[in-house]
Amino acid sequence: MRPTRLTQIVPALAAATLLLLPAIEAASQRKPLATGAAKGKKMSRDLPKTEEEWRKALTPEQYRVLRQKGTERAFTGKYWDHHADGSYSCAGCGQVLFRSTEKFDSGCGWPSFFEAADSTAVKYHEDNTLGMRRTEVTCARCGGHLGHIFDDGPNPTGKRYCINSASIEFGAREKAPRK
Ligand SMILES: [Zn+2]
Repeated sequence: MRPTRLTQIVPALAAATLLLLPAIEAASQRKPLATGAAKGKKMSRDLPKTEEEWRKALTPEQYRVLRQKGTERAFTGKYWDHHADGSYSCAGCGQVLFRSTEKFDSGCGWPSFFEAADSTAVKYHEDNTLGMRRTEVTCARCGGHLGHIFDDGPNPTGKRYCINSASIEFGAREKAPRK
């Protein structure tokens, strides 16, 4: 009968809802954040964990090169003769790997760079397959196979990063900063 009872319950409910709000908000934000990351900034997207997930995330050619260390045929990739200004990100994880400012025409049929965008962006591994002594280059973030590095590049480094087009994605928007 006394109205005070209701007025006591309502604030209590409101208080309980307020307590729950941060948890509800966090839960509802998780999804949009994840999809936003996948669509936009590739840097922050979650990496596939299993080979099956990698297979689904990549095109067959990207999967063959990045995950199975395949090599595209010379002069067949989309970037060996590509000259636009911008940066080249890992097709597996979106990390920026190379820039157009360090790209050069090597004539070998694969996109070639004399330097990586950042010394920590790539890793090097001894590769003695196919009866050759080579140095494999992989993405430091996702481990994807990119290509090989050779000592016959131009100045100033003398290096030639011989990279599969299938391993990288060109982005014109991220302009390379002038040194
Ligand atoms: Zn990567």
